[in-house]
Amino acid sequence: MVKAKKKFGQNFLIDSQIIKLIVDEIKFSDTNKYLEIGPGMGALTSELQKKTKNLDLIEIDPDMIKILRAKINDNTQIFEGDVLGFDDNFFEGYNVVLGNLPYYIATEIIFRFITISNVNTLYFMVQKEVADRLVGKMGTKENSILTNLVGFNFRTEKCFDIKPESFDPAPKVTSSFIKLTRHKDYVNEITYADFKRIIKESFKFKRKNLKNNLKNILNLNDFENLEILPTNRAEDLSIEDFIKITKYMISNA
Ligand code: SAM
Repeated sequence: MVKAKKKFGQNFLIDSQIIKLIVDEIKFSDTNKYLEIGPGMGALTSELQKKTKNLDLIEIDPDMIKILRAKINDNTQIFEGDVLGFDDNFFEGYNVVLGNLPYYIATEIIFRFITISNVNTLYFMVQKEVADRLVGKMGTKENSILTNLVGFNFRTEKCFDIKPESFDPAPKVTSSFIKLTRHKDYVNEITYADFKRIIKESFKFKRKNLKNNLKNILNLNDFENLEILPTNRAEDLSIEDFIKITKYMISNA
């Protein structure tokens, strides 16, 4: 077996039960184009190819690409490089993006797809801690910038956890398989850019309350009009509360 490279976040899936669970979770359709990020030695890729002819790959490590070339069939193209270096036009060619992500850039990869409107479903393996923040409930510390910015665009679902021994080398943390499905519930109400501004400001200082974090945007009277307690912290608010604040900010600008 090839030695795993830490700098590329390489933890290879070796558990066939988990690979089956993942493939069973993915909805396959002939009209979709699928893109796998970080296929590594192809543990998932081989199984995905049994389900779709429309699969391409992005991999950064030339050693992995050599191994992949010997394994994959002709329908699949391999793009070599850093996934974060590809432009929007490239990604717009796909509808479903999936992969066992390199954990050192997992959240950056998720954020990368927020504004790629053609990509409607993401299936990723990430650290459990990231998955828990993605599905973070109002009033808990997991309710975070990640919860709200991703939640504005995607319905988030944690499908199942995966123990470290399912990988070689075993990572230090438990992993989770997540599914994100694009929705359009809010995009006609406000822009993502305005919403993002409110989220960034609200969560700016974790220990401070909304009155402090939003002092340049809302005064006490505004909080009263909005029927939101100024002594709440950002984590106490729902996504609908943040939508309400964003709309209020725009109409009073
Ligand atoms: N999918 C394989 C598996 O499950 O066995 C490997 C998963 S491993 C956690 C992450 C993979 O992402 C590695 O193959 C690594 O080389 C690749 N990778 C790391 N950084 C990357 C980047 N910036 N862009 C594209 N691929 C990357």
